Amino acid sequence: MTVLDNALEGLRTTMRRDRVFDFVAENRFPFRGAGHAVMPGVVDTSHGTILYLENINVSFDGFKALNDLTLYIDDGELRCIIGPNGAGKTTMMDVITGKTRPDNGVAYFGQTMDLTRMSETDIAVSGIGRKFQRPTVFPYHTVFENLELAQQGNRGVWPSLLAHTTPEQRLRIEEVLETIGLQTLARETAALLSHGQKQWLEIGMLLMQNPRLLLVDEPVAGMTHQEMEQTAQLLTGLAGKHSVVVVEHDMDFVRSIANKVTVLHEGSVLAEGTMDEVQNNPKVVEVYLGE
Ligand code: ADP
Ligand code: MG
Repeated sequence: MTVLDNALEGLRTTMRRDRVFDFVAENRFPFRGAGHAVMPGVVDTSHGTILYLENINVSFDGFKALNDLTLYIDDGELRCIIGPNGAGKTTMMDVITGKTRPDNGVAYFGQTMDLTRMSETDIAVSGIGRKFQRPTVFPYHTVFENLELAQQGNRGVWPSLLAHTTPEQRLRIEEVLETIGLQTLARETAALLSHGQKQWLEIGMLLMQNPRLLLVDEPVAGMTHQEMEQTAQLLTGLAGKHSVVVVEHDMDFVRSIANKVTVLHEGSVLAEGTMDEVQNNPKVVEVYLGE
C-alpha cells in the first residue's frame, strides 16, 4: 500500500459510524482537564454528527427504560422518533438534557461535550433546547414580551422586562415572530392565544436562545388540522439551521415532515429509515398491531 492508500484507509476507519466512539473518546481527556468549559453555540460537528448516543442504559428499579440505545443525529437534520407508549422516548430526551443520568453508555453533543458529565444548565447553555408537551409561556405577558423574556434568560420577569432591549435584540425578536407566524399577534396577551399558537410561541422562546439542537415532544397533540400543517412547515423550516428531533404519535404528521424516522421499542432502536421503509418493516407492524 502506498502512503496515500494508508491515509485513505485511516480516514475510512475514522469515518465509520460504528467507530465514532474512538474519536469521541480521544477528546475526552483534554476536555475533562479543561473542566467542561461550555461555549454557547460552539459545537464541534466536523464529522457531520451533532448527537451521539451509544449503548445507553437506564433502569428504574430493575426495569430497563433504555436498553443499549444507540442513535446518531446528523447536523441539521430533522429526525422523527416514534414508538409505542413506554418505548423510552421521553427517557431518551431526559438523558440528552441531563435530567436523567444513564447507568452507562456514551452521550455526546458534537464531538467534545460529554452530556453525562454536564449539568442541565450547562447542557441548555451549550445549545440544546427542549420543548415539553405542555406549553409553559408567561400567560399575562404579550407574545413580544415572552420572546424578550426568553432572550434575557433566567433573570426573572421584572428585571428582564426593565432591561433595555437593544436594536439587534429587537430585530432578532421580529425575525423569530416571523418564523413562528405570530407577527400580527406580537402585542396580544399570551393567555388569549389558541393552543397551537401557544405551542409556536414556546418554540419561538426556545429559538431566542439560538439552540443548535431542538428536542420537541409531541408538538401537535391537541392541535387542529390546520395548526398541524403550520407546525409541519415551522419544523421543516427550522431544519438546516438547527437540528431537530421530534417525538410524535401522530403518524400522518410524522409522514408529512419526516426524512428519516427512528422507531423505538423497549428502550432500543427497532428500525430506522424513511417512513415507507419503517411502516413496511414486519417488526414495526407487529409492535404497532400489538399495542
Ligand atoms: P415513552 O415516552 O416512549 O412513552 P418513557 O420514556 O416515558 O416512554 O418511559 C419508558 C418506561 O420507563 C416506561 O415503562 C415508564 O413507565 C418507565 N419510567 C419512565 N420514567 C420513570 C421513572 N422516573 N421511574 C420509574 N419508571 C419510569
Ligand atoms: Mg413520552
